[in-house]
Amino acid sequence: MNTHPESSNSKRQTYRPATELVFVDCPEGSGANHYNAASVPIYQTATFKQTSATQTGEYDYTRSGNPTRSHLENHLAKIMSANRAFAVSSGMTALDVVTRLVRTGEEIIAGDDLYGGTNRLLTFLNKNCDIKTHHVDTTNPEVILPYLHPTRTRLVMLETPTNPLIKICDISTISSIVHEQCPNALIVVDNTMMSPYLQKPLELGADVVIHSGTKYLSGHHDLMAGIIAVKDKVVAEKIYFTINATGCGLSPFDSWLLLRGVKTLAVRMDKQQSNAMQIATFLELHGFQVSYPGLQSHPQYELHARMSSGPGAVLSFTTGDTSVSERVVESTKLWAISVSFGCVNSLISMPCRMSHASIPAAVREERGFPEDLIRLCVGIEDAADLIEDLHQALVTAGALRNDEMREA
Ligand SMILES: *Cc1c(COP(=O)(O)O)cnc(C)c1O
Repeated sequence: MNTHPESSNSKRQTYRPATELVFVDCPEGSGANHYNAASVPIYQTATFKQTSATQTGEYDYTRSGNPTRSHLENHLAKIMSANRAFAVSSGMTALDVVTRLVRTGEEIIAGDDLYGGTNRLLTFLNKNCDIKTHHVDTTNPEVILPYLHPTRTRLVMLETPTNPLIKICDISTISSIVHEQCPNALIVVDNTMMSPYLQKPLELGADVVIHSGTKYLSGHHDLMAGIIAVKDKVVAEKIYFTINATGCGLSPFDSWLLLRGVKTLAVRMDKQQSNAMQIATFLELHGFQVSYPGLQSHPQYELHARMSSGPGAVLSFTTGDTSVSERVVESTKLWAISVSFGCVNSLISMPCRMSHASIPAAVREERGFPEDLIRLCVGIEDAADLIEDLHQALVTAGALRNDEMREA
């Protein structure tokens, strides 16, 4: 049996986001913490003894439920403004569980600049399960209209900002259009890029929110996890059924580690974001084409600011030449060449060669994906060191002459 404490915090005062991240409720009677440990223990057990042949306690088998995992899920439901949240083994698992709500013959509408792994999963569903995905440019809600079908459309999957093109979509407008025309459809937002500290899609009209816990929620690139947060109780039951049926719930140790990470989300994100803003400004001042929703030059600066409380810490820029970009990436010393983001360390990558290489080159071209794009995922180091290192890499690569501005 699984427990899923409904927000037990309804009675107490609510605090500001940074406080709520650290303040973890332990519901009375949940049995998760009978010694009042400051850090809820890791219940490293597969089974729980029953009191009799016919009666189970709150927990019986860790695939179905574990106190450490419930504790994490309860905390995440609170910070994501969800009715229930579920912790699973990776972000892709979260997406897999959610796409199992779709039946053969039903359809998905999704953005055209999705995470590469999501793209691969949707292609698999199309080939093997006859579930078609229409990829559209979700930056313009109107573009979705022709693809909406009152009964066939089951999921509308959004990311905002997208990665690495940093395109923004209007969650509220799309949610109301879709809910009106397709009562059966769910708006699913992959909110990994923003984290619940900066953006809460369930408050903007979405039905389901997904996070790769591997990124900002954990913050240290030392675990893999995925989170699914849901508003509707019936949808939540279906999701719980799949998690229990397939056995993809997050392990007790990783649940404990993820909860530890979540508590520092606000301090990490505040620092990462302030560093990112300085770096974006540095690059723009030197004449590079920069995509970052914290810059007023971003075409959807205002839309992003309406939906979220900050621009996050991922930005991308182009150099105009693929081999120059490759040299820039390879010339940094402080910035690690790595896929993924959300780590306390700064990372640099070339999406076309790395995270997005699984998208065929022809499709990338069709979607206007620049091959010379460099993505920066900014960490918590001193911004001056990050800028100095980037500057020397740009000079070494020939993207910038020392002490010279590029021609805008
Ligand atoms: C990383 C990522 C995923 C996949 O998460 P994993 O934890 O790597 O499985 C999904 N969506 C987005 C936006 C991501 O960045």
